Amino acid sequence: MRTPIIAGNWKMNGSLALLEDFGHAFSEAALPESIEVVILPPFPYLANADEAFEASLVQLGAQTVNPEEQGAFTGEVSASMLKEFGVRFVLVGHSERRTLFREDDSAVLARARAALNSGLTPILCVGETLEEREAGRTESIVLGQIDAVLGELDSQQRRELVIAYEPVWAIGTGRTATPEQAQQVHAAIRQHLHAYEHELGNGVRLLYGGSMKADNAAQLLAQPDIDGGLIGGASLKTDDFLAICHAAG
Ligand code: PEP
Repeated sequence: MRTPIIAGNWKMNGSLALLEDFGHAFSEAALPESIEVVILPPFPYLANADEAFEASLVQLGAQTVNPEEQGAFTGEVSASMLKEFGVRFVLVGHSERRTLFREDDSAVLARARAALNSGLTPILCVGETLEEREAGRTESIVLGQIDAVLGELDSQQRRELVIAYEPVWAIGTGRTATPEQAQQVHAAIRQHLHAYEHELGNGVRLLYGGSMKADNAAQLLAQPDIDGGLIGGASLKTDDFLAICHAAG
């Protein structure tokens, strides 16, 4: 069976004090052992986060990575650097990166490759805008974003990925996809993965992201093709994030 993942994307939020709160809350509270929990703080907090979560089951993730190994890329961070700080997962293709930082499919692929080459697990984010949904293009957009990466990887690399379906209209808006809407897209993604290779469809974990909260997580996570959540806003509150972890466990 697929182990659920609950991942908290702090975006450009948080502080050393928040990290300390999370460190305490997550080392003291019993987390369900049947799930993986990942926190993705901003880069400067990674070293402290590695320490803060040492006594807990929480794993570390990063919010982006530069495709290059090293060199004159002011302000950027490479996969091998992330690895040195205990990072296990990295987001690629988050909609904020695609729009605000103009990362297109080839930039997303380059980042996924760099992560894989350093032994990090890419969490590939895909999702349609409201306009695309209303035009009936949800599946073609989402599957196209997936193919742009998976089509260029080998079979072993594809199996390493985690995919997060995040409808852009649901991110940070408080407007969540209904469990039925989310399940429909997740099922289409899984079917598409089966077409690559049967085992791929069975094994790849598909997370839902987009205003997942303590009070809607259980229903979303109960869907057969939803294997966890990528959480933004609600990952900044220890109680809410813990409640979501328990809804997955
Ligand atoms: C996200 O940024 O990936 C996200 C899902 O944010 P939120 O939960 O705030 O919608």
